[in-house]
Amino acid sequence: MNDEKKANGSIDSIPTFTPPTPTFEPPKNAKPAFNGPACHYHNDEPAVARCAKCGKPICKDCYDNYKVSGGQYAGKALCFDCCQELVANNVEELRNNYATIKGQYIICIIGCVIGAIVGIMWGASAGVEGALIYGLLCAAIGGSAGNFFKRFISSIPGFFVSTGNIVVSIIVGLIKFVGCFFIYAIVALFETVRKIIYYISYMKKTSGFIESDSAALKQMADYMEYTMVRNQNRGIDIETLLNQKSELADNTYAQMVQERGEEGAEAAMRDCVATFNEHGEIIRNFNVAGRDAA
Ligand SMILES: [Zn+2]
Ligand SMILES: [Zn+2]
Repeated sequence: MNDEKKANGSIDSIPTFTPPTPTFEPPKNAKPAFNGPACHYHNDEPAVARCAKCGKPICKDCYDNYKVSGGQYAGKALCFDCCQELVANNVEELRNNYATIKGQYIICIIGCVIGAIVGIMWGASAGVEGALIYGLLCAAIGGSAGNFFKRFISSIPGFFVSTGNIVVSIIVGLIKFVGCFFIYAIVALFETVRKIIYYISYMKKTSGFIESDSAALKQMADYMEYTMVRNQNRGIDIETLLNQKSELADNTYAQMVQERGEEGAEAAMRDCVATFNEHGEIIRNFNVAGRDAA
């Protein structure tokens, strides 16, 4: 007894009063008012589904907002982490594609420049017009050099066929040689122009996707952070939350809630995910078309 008293600090036999610990707990520690698993991210919300990729339980809010409508997980629910990973992979894939296309574009332009120099020198003896025409055709050849030479070399054996007279055969062969060269040069002109338009439009489109998908990543992360703080502080208005919770200081979603209200911000979030889904679809289609065009 004495030892116990000492331990309690009441050695002078003055009764000590220990105030009861407050029974109020913040909602985050409250026992959920539902049976079954809670959302992995929002532990005061019941889970309505499981992530199609990793199996984490997710609440209705998560289910509605991290939905991917296309590709491998079309029509299925993904959790926040898996959704983030998917968008991040998309951004990564876009960056790689962009780098590949930029490389091809640079090679094409270098080919055009070299071709133009050779062509101008070649055609210079025929005056300005000759220099321009040769310069243009050779620039086109330089831009699609691989295809041009493949076509031209594979048709050479057909140029020289025996006509019974060796001189006639050689003349006919040379005419075919020169004719074929110009026909393939004109084909190369269309091909090079088409390639350059494709490269430029691909790079423009892709950089737009990279930008908006990166923004989507940030918005999804902000949305998750906001909903976690909001659920732990139910009943507190957004102004107070923004003032008190330093983690929301640079949270763009919380700012959007303040500006447009909860509903307006949610609509923006749905737009963001819809845009991302649309991009996923365009990226997949563009990749298939891109492989054919390159
Ligand atoms: Zn998951
Ligand atoms: Zn949730």
